[in-house]
Parts: sequence; C-alpha cells; structure tokens
Amino acid sequence: MVVPKNAYFMGEIVPYSEARIGVLTHGFNYGTAVFGGIRAYWNEDQEQLYVFRPLDHYRRFLNSTRLLLMEFEHTPESLTQITLDLLRADGYRCDLYIRPIAYKADEIIGVKLHDLLDELAIVAFPYEPYVKNDENAHVTISSWRRVDDNVIPARGKISGAYANSALIKSDALRAGFDEALVLTQEGHISEGSAMNVFIVREGALVTPPITENILEGITRKSVIELARAEMGLTVVERPIDRSEVYLADELFLTGTAAQITAVTRVDYRPIGAGTMGPITSRLRRLYDDITRGRLDRYRRWNKPVYAESSEAVEKEYTG
Ligand code: PMP
Repeated sequence: MVVPKNAYFMGEIVPYSEARIGVLTHGFNYGTAVFGGIRAYWNEDQEQLYVFRPLDHYRRFLNSTRLLLMEFEHTPESLTQITLDLLRADGYRCDLYIRPIAYKADEIIGVKLHDLLDELAIVAFPYEPYVKNDENAHVTISSWRRVDDNVIPARGKISGAYANSALIKSDALRAGFDEALVLTQEGHISEGSAMNVFIVREGALVTPPITENILEGITRKSVIELARAEMGLTVVERPIDRSEVYLADELFLTGTAAQITAVTRVDYRPIGAGTMGPITSRLRRLYDDITRGRLDRYRRWNKPVYAESSEAVEKEYTG
C-alpha cells in the first residue's frame, strides 16, 4: 500500500508522518472507533477526479459516530469539503481510497463510551484492487457468524466489529477461497467479510434486508437503484437461505473496495453456468461508467475534486 501524503488530523491538514496516536488511545485499545471507506475515481479524458457519493458515505459515518456516543459539529457537507481540501492538497491524478475515522482519543484505561474526547482523521491514498479475482471469485460459507445488532451493531461500521470480518476473511483466504459469505445467528445469509451480497433467482435480484446484520452499503443502495431504473429488474430485500445461494443463477458482492465482484463458485459448486452472468456483467459496466463520471444522469453521485467547466459546475451533486 502507498503511504498517504497528508492527513486531516486534529482539525488541520498535516503531513501523514505527523498524524500519530499514542499506544494508550482508547479507540486503539477497545475498538471504540468508527470508520468509512470512500473511493475517488480518476477520469483521464476529463482530467477529473470524482469522489463517489461522499455525502451518503458521510451521512452513514456520522450515524456510526452516534452509535458510539460521539459528538461532532461536522455535517456530511463539511466533511465532504474537508475531503476535497485534502485531495487537492495531495494533488493525486489516479484512483484513490479515502478513509475517514472517528475515535475515542483519550489515553486512559477504562471501558466506556461516555465522557471521552472524540477525534476525527481522514487520509487518502492510491487504490489497489481489493478482491484480486473480481470476475470469477470462489467463495465459501464461513464457520464464523456475523456480529448481531445486540452484540455490536453491524450497521455502525465500528472498528471493534472488524475483528469479526478479519476472522472471516483470513480463514477463507487461507483455505484457498477469495472471500466468504457469513451467516446470521439464525442461519440466514448476511453478507461478505466487507461487502454486501446479491443473488439472481428467477430473473429477480434478491439481497438480505438491512435487519440481517449487514452494513447498509452505499454500493448496495446504488445497485438496487440501477437495477430498477436502468434494467427494469425486480429487486427484493428478504432473508436468504444458505441453500438458495447454491441454487442461484448469479451471485455477486458489492462494496466500495470490491465494487461489483462476480462470484462463480460457492464451496466448489458452480453458480449458474459457472461463469459471470449477464445481469452481473451489465451492472459492472454501468457501475464503472457511473463512478468515472461518464453517465450524465448519475452525475449527482460524482463530486469533482478539481475545477471544471461552468456547465458542469451547474449540475447538482446530492449523493
Ligand atoms: N459490509 C461490510 C461489513 C463492509 O465493511 C462494507 C464496506 N464498507 C460493505 C458491506 C459495503 O459497503 P459500501 O458499499 O458502503 O462500501
């Protein structure tokens, strides 16, 4: 991974080497931190860098901070502005990953959430593909279970809960798979280690509802909208049984890092024909066009980093 150039840290943009926390920091010891994962896409033809749906990401981020009783003056708009300032200071002309993190900053011993200092940092760095095999991934069903809402809320993107994701991911990779699906305590499909899941059954797109201990993914939300609006597909949010996955016609994973990853085998069973299906393939092309700012009707999701023509500036960015 490339080391970030700068960081937004303690209220200002500083060289990354100066963005350091102490060993006793509460968020580091107890996982009392929440984070986000946002991507910016470089469009070579337009010489423009587009941040994908930053307002939606920061809305979720601020909701996560509330779950850990954090208090910030920030709004999604102010955090987006800080991100743009940071990216302009960095001056990158390539695809990026942006990591905002809010954490309990006191250097003390004592497990609690209240009456602690809250801090926030943001860094950005060039992005490398997350799931190497994103056209025909082989996944397994994890023997771990997803953290439950009454254990650590998965919708919170809480750092401590990612020990669960790390257990899931490492066991899958070390067993030779690309990724894993994880079940809820009740035995339904929840999501991947850090991505949401969709299956195609009888022409409809099916994905677990937000009450199945999933992170409420921005890519998931985008895919649901695109499938309905651009492809006229029926999208159903309902619990998915494990055996439905084995019988699915298509299966894919969605996430900021993973984008839309086609899964063609689950536990050595071929999904559909055992190659990427037409719905997955079409959605991947659409998503690529949209994230790179090539589709005008979705420009509301693209926040440009660098100055652009007055015509483009007049468009409204709401995503
Ligand atoms: N689930 C989990 C557990 C994740 O960490 C992520 C990545 N943020 C996702 C799903 C996908 O969410 P998004 O599309 O917002 O990146």
